Amino acid sequence: MRYADLVSLYLDLEATTKRLEKTHLLARFLKERFSKNGSREELSATLQLLQGRLFPPWDKRTLGMSSNLVVKAIAAAAGTTEEHVKEEWKQLGDLGKVAVALVAKKKQATLFSRELSVLDVVTTLRKLPGIEGERSVETKVKLVASLLTSATGEEPRFILRTVLEELRVGIAEGTMRDALCWAFLNPQITYDMENNDIVFTSEAGRAAYNELITAVQDAYDLTSDFGVVADVARTKGVAGLRAITLELGKPLRVMLAQRESTVAAAMDRVGRPAALEYKYDGFRMQIHKQGSQITIFTRRLENVTKQFPDVVASVKKHIKARECLIDCEAVGYDPASGRYKPFQYISQRIRRKYDIAKMAEELPVELNVFDILYVDGETLLKTPFKERRARLREVLPRDVPRKVRLSAYLETSDDKAGEAFYKDSLAAGHEGVMVKALSAPYRPGSRVGTWVKVKPVMDTFDLVIVAAEWGEGKRSGWLTSFTLACQDDDGAFVTIGRVGTGLKELEQEGGVTFRELTERLKPHITAEHGRDVALAPAVVLEVAFEEIQQSPSYESGYALRFPRVIRVRDDRSPEDVTSIEEVRLAFEQQRRG
Ligand code: AMP
Repeated sequence: MRYADLVSLYLDLEATTKRLEKTHLLARFLKERFSKNGSREELSATLQLLQGRLFPPWDKRTLGMSSNLVVKAIAAAAGTTEEHVKEEWKQLGDLGKVAVALVAKKKQATLFSRELSVLDVVTTLRKLPGIEGERSVETKVKLVASLLTSATGEEPRFILRTVLEELRVGIAEGTMRDALCWAFLNPQITYDMENNDIVFTSEAGRAAYNELITAVQDAYDLTSDFGVVADVARTKGVAGLRAITLELGKPLRVMLAQRESTVAAAMDRVGRPAALEYKYDGFRMQIHKQGSQITIFTRRLENVTKQFPDVVASVKKHIKARECLIDCEAVGYDPASGRYKPFQYISQRIRRKYDIAKMAEELPVELNVFDILYVDGETLLKTPFKERRARLREVLPRDVPRKVRLSAYLETSDDKAGEAFYKDSLAAGHEGVMVKALSAPYRPGSRVGTWVKVKPVMDTFDLVIVAAEWGEGKRSGWLTSFTLACQDDDGAFVTIGRVGTGLKELEQEGGVTFRELTERLKPHITAEHGRDVALAPAVVLEVAFEEIQQSPSYESGYALRFPRVIRVRDDRSPEDVTSIEEVRLAFEQQRRG
């Protein structure tokens, strides 16, 4: 498939903000191109480009192309100087536009190019993360320049947006899911463009349609890969989707929680009686056991098995199942006193590459297991939570303190009992409680209202950095004053304030330094104007503050008073940051006092 065809779809998608219209455009495109033709590889590449990424969500490789490298690539492709490109950038304000203008000029002069295909673009860009060593900059620049040289019309703009990892055509997960259903499962509906509505064309109506949507969602939950889901849907239909099962050894996206400000409200939300568990302040581990082979994934689906030989040993020894998949929180504790320690105490273990055995002794963790999704040939995703908890007890008949245990648990309908349990959890040094619906299935990757967390409100938010400023004076050479964003209801990042305090100038002071944060942010720079730097959302900070205020200065409508950086949350992706719903809730609660 020609890349130009995909670009014309991008342009159509860009022209509307209506979700159903986007779904319709996407579905029509996929149906025309892929229901009968197109290789699986091409389908998968197209879907990835539509989501603005080159790798599946569990693959954390990034392209590592800063705007500086992009300037070099444009200069090379257009046969001009970097200064000229930067001049144009100042005028046009967008590197994509600069590339479109300069590359078109060059083209008239040379008339040499080949037509780009979707696979050309994907195959070329996927090479970028692997390029290392001395001449890596030149090699990367050459690769991107080679694409730009062959690009025509608006193609350079979308190539560069993909390269800079900021596509912005707004294909959210739900839109992609619905579009695959419309394109390949022949639902009995039509899209009424004029009224922007769905019309059901068969008796079965909405219920039948919802079943098809559920089949696509379930298949995506299990595979985390729309390429696979689309290919099965077009070749084997809904029956094929329903036959997809969980695969041990392959990470599953983890289930997430919503938030309420009181235990009573949380219990109302999930329904009574509810299950309450301590909410531990450690980090998430999804553990797959296949006989003696144990694999550990983080919440971001990174494989961290090597870093945790102690956890591997405990699971082998204490978990009584040949095969299973369990969901846990690993909590650090002080080996001398046995007392629990907060997350940052063990966070260093995630990145550690050497002295691993020593680290395991110095910074031990206890596994607090709270869910089981698979056991000896049986998938439990749709099994009600209460029953999953019972199955969990079967694989871990007895808690082994400081090694592996089930999370502290209470089933109750009573506000007072719930409140007391919450107080106990806080008194024991944990973060709060998780309130869970007893009858609910496990929904990978979803923040549905069947898990609700309750923790003291005025603590911290996890926010992603979207902009910064180059410092001056003794801070020159470092990025300072970071603009932070939370997530709005559609998953878009909206700004909520700036932070410059809480970071250290010197390594000796401990904590996060400006230098360190600058190094982490550099590969994500997408644009620079004077001292202002725009950044692709990548690095998540935990930020404390005194108060939330309503404010027209930021996109979220809120601002944080006296924010300060607590730490970098390496375990969080941008999609995990605090939602606007949580901000609203915290604001309301603060007002109530
Ligand atoms: P938050 O990170 O504040 O959105 O809270 C969700 C996180 O709490 C999960 O991703 C887990 O890592 C952690 N957690 C701690 N204890 C539990 C528990 N009992 N059940 C589920 N998640 C838990």
